[in-house]
Amino acid sequence: TLSTAAALPVLTKLQHDCATPLPLLRNIADNMAADMRAGLAVDGGSDLKMILSYVDSLPTGHERGLFYALDLGGTNFRVLRTQLGGRDERVIDTEFEQVSIPQDLMSGTSDELFDFIASALAKFVKKEGGKFVLPNGRSRETGFTFSFPVKQTSIDSGILIKWTKGFSVSGTPGKDIVACLNEAMGRQGLDMRVSALVNDTVATLAGARYWDDDVMVAVILGTGTNACYVESVEAIPKLQGRKSTYGKTIINTEWGAFSNGLPLTEYDRAMDAESINPGEQLYEKTISGMYLGEIVRRVLVRMAETGSLFGKHIPEKLQTPFALGTPNISSMQQDTSEDLEAVGSILYEATGVDSNLDARKMVVEVCDTIAKRGGRLAGAGIVGILQKMEEDSKGVVFGKRMVVAMDGGLYEHYPQYKRYLKNAVAELLGPELSSHVVIEHSKDGSGIGAALLAATNSIYE
Ligand code: ADP
Repeated sequence: TLSTAAALPVLTKLQHDCATPLPLLRNIADNMAADMRAGLAVDGGSDLKMILSYVDSLPTGHERGLFYALDLGGTNFRVLRTQLGGRDERVIDTEFEQVSIPQDLMSGTSDELFDFIASALAKFVKKEGGKFVLPNGRSRETGFTFSFPVKQTSIDSGILIKWTKGFSVSGTPGKDIVACLNEAMGRQGLDMRVSALVNDTVATLAGARYWDDDVMVAVILGTGTNACYVESVEAIPKLQGRKSTYGKTIINTEWGAFSNGLPLTEYDRAMDAESINPGEQLYEKTISGMYLGEIVRRVLVRMAETGSLFGKHIPEKLQTPFALGTPNISSMQQDTSEDLEAVGSILYEATGVDSNLDARKMVVEVCDTIAKRGGRLAGAGIVGILQKMEEDSKGVVFGKRMVVAMDGGLYEHYPQYKRYLKNAVAELLGPELSSHVVIEHSKDGSGIGAALLAATNSIYE
């Protein structure tokens, strides 16, 4: 029909601008490896912060005892306890609860927020029983997953740089958040101490490593994205002699800030310019769940304007930023019906447009183009990490089994994206090397991972 024909050049240009042929992916992997190296050399040396996690030992499976985990990263926080039974009994039991943070506390004072958290934790601890036992004379220990920018100063301390994600709590920035929590627990009369302060990616790596000794890398692809990996201390010049007993440590790459060589379109540039952090997190903005749907929406607006893809009228909803979510574009790609009925109804629900079959087909093409670019770029980033590890010590990653633990709603729920990611890794590595690289979903490993890190960093061991 006339309408789709007029929108076709927009699609063609999009596909051209988003193309990720093998040489481009190779360049991304090389740049990722080089940026990692630069970030390890000196603080501020690259887009990648390459943050020291102070996690020098990972779970082995031998951990024993009762450990807690506390996860604060958004509008909910989760508390968990687990009873570990060592090599044979493994995880004897786990319980968790999720508590939502009242809106007013997100912009209140530090003490109010931490008192609320500590009091919820105290209530959870009161219900401890059954298979959960704390040896006499010991305090409870918890891991603390805190997904805000922190300048970590040791495994159990870190200074909050700033609140993000809608939090604007006064009095915390510049303070040690572990101290804030420990003091609040004290005020609640709760006998518990924070043994490990960790980033969620690091917790995911720990959680996956507990079950599989070959896990060396963890990647989160959810609303945002991040990756961490096991690094040798000799490969970290900026460490300046700080010793790790084990010779290894976990580096939190903060790879969402990567930007070198990305194939960006006019839609990406406009979205970035209007974002709260222009020029920042460009890799995150091309590969993570918060943005994929929004990029598609911007393309559809262009198609509607220049090609009348959905008729003369352009609904207000289609013009509303973030009206189309990544779950929407993923659902549209799962529609295998002949008339693409689900595509039509999702489009109508989310953006208010009416569509005929040709328009729907074109929309699916747009979704696929954006998911393909995202998945393939994410795959190239993973290969960049593996390359960097291999360059420093030949044989650590290539030629034997090695596992990349993946988590996050995007990876979990978007099958096309996941396939593109895996295909890119296989293309880049070739059949021989990629046969040893296992990309494995580690669902919700981060909760138990933080408890495991409390165990490996226990003051009683
Ligand atoms: P978060 O990253 O917010 O901590 P998750 O790991 O659960 O939490 O990821 C949630 C994100 O995953 C959502 O913001 C969305 O972008 C993406 N997502 C959720 N469901 C789907 C889906 N069905 N298809 C594609 N992406 C999804």
